[in-house]
Parts: sequence; C-alpha cells; structure tokens
Amino acid sequence: MNATIKINGQIMDHQIPTEILTYPNRLKRSIKAIFIFVTAASFSIFIPVLHFVLVPTLLFLAFFLSYSKFQEKYKIDLEKVHCPSCQAKLLEKDVFVKSNRPTKLYCFSCRKQIDFSI
Ligand SMILES: [Zn+2]
Repeated sequence: MNATIKINGQIMDHQIPTEILTYPNRLKRSIKAIFIFVTAASFSIFIPVLHFVLVPTLLFLAFFLSYSKFQEKYKIDLEKVHCPSCQAKLLEKDVFVKSNRPTKLYCFSCRKQIDFSI
C-alpha cells in the first residue's frame, strides 16, 4: 500500500511497507491501553492527597487513549525510510496512522515536520 509523505506542503509518494491493522488487532491495542491506565489509577488510590487528581486523570486517559488507539487503522514501518528533505534516518520505527488525518513526525536533524497519511 502506498503511503503519502508531505513535507513543507509538498507531497511525495513513496513505497513504504504499510500494514492494515485488523479489527482484533486494534481491539487488542485498545484494551491494552485501558488495562495499563486503569491499573495505574487503581495503584494511585493509595497515594495520599494526590489520588484526588491522579485517579480521575488516569481514568480519563484510559478511555481517551484507548479510543484514540482504536481509531488507528494502519501501521507504517519506517525501518528503511529516510527524511525526504535531508536524507537522515528517522528515529521512529513504527508509526500508526488514522484513516482520516495524518500522523505528524519531526526529523531530528533538519527539524522539519513530516506528515504521514494513507
Ligand atoms: Zn530531515
């Protein structure tokens, strides 16, 4: 599948290995996020005074982030991808992309924003 790379408003088409995440795979990632944050929230109950802030915040993050992870439908493998502007190797290995909006990364050597979309 073709992924589109956009840098400084200029669109570049590249053949990047892209994996379509299946429904069970997306559900598994979503449940994993809920489990991590609910576990952290339940342990933060025992922290005096801070638990008034930590428990609601972590529970909100659990549902918000799990929903956000469930929306990610594609996985782009950036192992062999270089920055289109400066040809430096990108530090991220995998990028998860939602179908309706691009995922933004920054090249650490030239500091330009790179948008990945399907
Ligand atoms: Zn760069």
